[in-house]
Order: sequence, then C-alpha cells, then structure tokens
Amino acid sequence: MATLDIYQFPCLSDNYGVLIHDGENNLTASIDAPEAGAVRQALADKGWTLTHILTTHYHADHTGGNLELKGETGCTIAGPRNEADKVPGIDVKLGEGDSYEFGAFTAKVFDTPGHTAGHITYWFPDAKVAFAGDTLFTMGCGRVFEGDAKTMWNSLSKIRALPPETVIYSGHEYTVANADFALTVEPGNAALQARAKEVRELRAQGKPTVPTTLARELETNPFLRPGSPEIQANIGMEGREHWEIFGEVRRRKDNA
Ligand code: ZN
Ligand code: FE
Repeated sequence: MATLDIYQFPCLSDNYGVLIHDGENNLTASIDAPEAGAVRQALADKGWTLTHILTTHYHADHTGGNLELKGETGCTIAGPRNEADKVPGIDVKLGEGDSYEFGAFTAKVFDTPGHTAGHITYWFPDAKVAFAGDTLFTMGCGRVFEGDAKTMWNSLSKIRALPPETVIYSGHEYTVANADFALTVEPGNAALQARAKEVRELRAQGKPTVPTTLARELETNPFLRPGSPEIQANIGMEGREHWEIFGEVRRRKDNA
C-alpha cells in the first residue's frame, strides 16, 4: 500500500493549507489554495511539485492562490460542480458520489452544502483521511451562509457516518473559541473538559489543533451531538429533531 504524505502549514490569518503527496507517482495536491505564496513555500520546504489543487469551496481564503499557482505549474484544479462558476481555474467538476483518482489513491466526494451552496468534502478511505474545508472544524462547524440548518445538519451527518478513526483536516484554527463555546452548551461533558484543556495547551505552545479525528469530534463537538441530553436540556429542546437542535446550537454560536 502506497503512503499518502500530508503536510499542513498555517497561512493567512487563521487558515491552514495542506499538501498531500503520492511519492510513488510523484503527484502533489494542495487542498484548497488560500494564497499562492504560502503554498509555494510549503512545496519548496518539501521539495514537491504541484500537480493538483482540490478545492472544497469558492471562498477567497480557499481559492485565492488558484490562478497564480496554475499559471506557474499547469496544475489541474478540481472543485465543486455546484459552484464551479465561482472557482477560479476549475478543470474538473466534482459532486456527490464522484470518485477522483489521485495516483494510487481515490477520493470519494460528498456534497456538504450549508457554509456555501456547493461545498464538497473529500474522503480518502485508504488513507483514512477527510478534507472537510469549512464544513466541520475541530470542536466546531462552519457558519451557515448559504443554506439552512437542515441542509448543514445533513452535510455534517455525512461526515459523522465516516469511520470514527478518520482523520479530519479543516480550513481554520478556531479551536479555542470553539471549545469555549462548547463548554457553554455541554459543561458537564468530561471528554469536552479534557479536550478544552488540551487544545488550550497546544495553542499556548503554538501547535495546531487540526487535524482531529472523527472519534474525538463525536465525543466533544456540540454540532455533532444534538442527541446529548445535556445539550438538549441546556437549550430547552428536549426530544426535538436533531437538525433543529443543531440549528439552535449554531444560532447560539453565531451570537456568542
Ligand atoms: Zn469558507
Ligand atoms: Fe474559510
């Protein structure tokens, strides 16, 4: 089995860039391209040559480097079919149920709308890794800009159904703020208390809290836990539909 090498680096104010590399086939993809300079530097640091950009959604902090990097390298840009007109330089349009071959690896693509209407998530089952863009964050989730609570909950439910050992990369370092908020809706969650302490320590040392694993998120992320009796009681929504509870938790975070 080939190895998928993964290199994450901070860029812009709070974004993460990620390179994935199939050494056997000498392919390197940038998961999103927040800015050309940081991606270029990361490629130089690793000695890798860019062949692909895999776009999760059209926002400028995820596509700002697309055209410059494509101009320099001739890389292929894959991205969401449902917002393809907003993704600079897109060559390959992907959506729900598609498989995308990246050397020895295959990405399974899910539509995960809500943050944007066309947002997609890439899951590499053999490498046990998913790239969730701005849909799921460590202990948080993306703001619902284009869609409603039901749409976003349905998207999160697709990620929630992946194997628990799946390693989840996301676009931003928002984790300390996410942890502070999570404790307001589920203060009695011991796993959450421990994780909040851990992420504060990591950040104090300048270390990333991304990636995470789905298993840890299922235990600590309030946006994946609408079934929690404590959350339901704290927001006064015992027994309501999970998408409604998700929506209320998201509304409270927006107003926090
Ligand atoms: Zn975004
Ligand atoms: Fe973003």
